[in-house]
This record gives sequence, C-alpha cells and structure tokens, in this order.
Amino acid sequence: MDYQQILNEIYAKVQPCLTRGKVADYIPELSHVPQSKFGMALVTHGGEVFEVGDAAEPFSIQSISKLFTLTLAMRLEGNGIWDRIGREPSGTAFNSLVQLEYENGIPRNPFINAGAIVVTDLILSHLDNAHETVLDFIRELSGNKTIQFNRDIVRSEKATGYRNVALANFIKSFGNLRNAPEAVLDAYFHHCSIAMTCTDVARAGLFLANAGRSPSTGSEIVRPNQAKHIKSLMLTCGTYDAVGDFAYRVGLPGKSGVGGGILAVMPGQFSVCVWSPGLNQSGNSLAGTMALEWLTTQTEVSIF
Ligand code: GLU
Repeated sequence: MDYQQILNEIYAKVQPCLTRGKVADYIPELSHVPQSKFGMALVTHGGEVFEVGDAAEPFSIQSISKLFTLTLAMRLEGNGIWDRIGREPSGTAFNSLVQLEYENGIPRNPFINAGAIVVTDLILSHLDNAHETVLDFIRELSGNKTIQFNRDIVRSEKATGYRNVALANFIKSFGNLRNAPEAVLDAYFHHCSIAMTCTDVARAGLFLANAGRSPSTGSEIVRPNQAKHIKSLMLTCGTYDAVGDFAYRVGLPGKSGVGGGILAVMPGQFSVCVWSPGLNQSGNSLAGTMALEWLTTQTEVSIF
C-alpha cells in the first residue's frame, strides 16, 4: 500500500473544503488557530510513519485526551469504573447536563465531558498529581518527552468553562465525585489542553491497533480485552452525536476533539491522526472526517 501517495492525494483533495468548517470559539484561545491548517499522519503497526501537510505542528488535542485518560483509569481501576460511568452513546451534546439529572449523576459514557470528569476524578483518587501523570503517560505512549500543556488554553478554558464547572458540581451533588470539583476540573482542563502533533497522536494510539501492546517497546498498555473495550467505545461514543455517520463514512473507531483532531485506528494495521480546525455541525473536524473517509475508501481497508 502506498500510504504516502494516498496521503498526498487526500491533501490535494481537502484544500477546497478547509474553509467550510467553523473553528471552535467557545474556548476563546482555540479561535486563534488558522482555519487553513491541515495535517495527517499514519503510523503502521510496523512503525513506519507517513505524514502530510501540518502533521508536525502541535495542536490542542481537547477531547482526544479522553481516550488516554480512560486508558489510564482502566489500568488503575479495571472494571470498577463501570459502576460510575455508562457505556452507551448519549444522543445529546458532549457538554449536556440534561441526561445527568434523569440518570442520577451517572454519565452515559466516558467520552462526553461528564464522563471524562468522572474518569479524571477516578485518576485523581489514585494519584495526587493527575495532570502530570496523564502528561507522562501520553509522552510514554507517543515516545515524545517534549509534549507539553498549552498554558494559554488552560487559562482560557478555566476562565470560560462555566458548563464544565456546572457539570462537575452537578455530578458531585449526586455523590459521583470523590474529590473536590475544583481539583477535578483543574486536572480535566489540563488534559484537554495538551498539545501534540498528528504524528504524536497517531503514535500514542498505536497500542490500540496492536491489541493493547505497544508495537515499538512490546510493553502491555492494557490487556487485549480492554483494548477491545476502548475501541468499541470509540466506535459507539467517540465522535460526538455523529457516531452513526462517522461509522458509516469512515468505518473505523475514532475519537475527535473540538481542536479539530481525530484519532482513528485500524486493528492490526495502522493508527492515523488528522487535524483540521474547521468543525462540522456535529463538532467533528469537517475536512478531517472527509480525509478519513477518503483514506478508507481509497485503501478499501476498514473494520467492516
Ligand atoms: N475542553 C473541551 C470542553 O470541555 C473539550 C471538548 C471536546 O473536545 O469535546 O469543552
């Protein structure tokens, strides 16, 4: 498979679409990212890396961090996490409060904000410094020790994250947070603000294409069964309220973020990350989703 040629073709094809999405601005600092950015990196199971466009430029991973925090929580707590978080698509916005009221403070899944806030609380109960530990874990997964928080984004999220503050306090009122909401939110905002390149993210996700084991170091990140669980959740809950459309078009488990990044994995073959900050109406990267759709169409490789 000539992945480089396919990525080059995708790069040319997405250019007219880059202006069609809308860059997220509810976190003011995110709105400064130029809409013309587009990067894509594919890392094969064997460790070969293919890149195009702005694949080496760090971007704010936002909700892609929820994948890594879930992985860490599964390592720390095993199946205990499912006493406090569901595993069903929410059918509501990623930052919605309504369902929590009906469902007694148990978030629908770990990939909506409410779920990730509970995941962060779980991590915090095991580790004093949740945000540094998550950063170290991501550095280890991607093999890049220089990955950092974007402090401007942390500040921007803290200054404007009223809805996340409401979610954390609401969950606390149902008794589903063990730590202080302020401490949980501080860690949560840090996780969302981690800056990584497409290549870093693709490398960090490669263990999911290899049944939970890092192909480069051979170390077990999670058990094969847990890798299956994580990918199932990506497929059913990973791309906001458009999981059906994403599965239909792309045919891979994926996790997106409002920074415009999407990580997708093809078990046994590759991990791929695309970044383009213009979002579609569902909050997924518009050109990023198209790029992944073209990738699986062109290669005729998908999980289905
Ligand atoms: N930091 C963002 C928030 O909490 C993450 C949202 C996302 O990427 O889905 O609103």
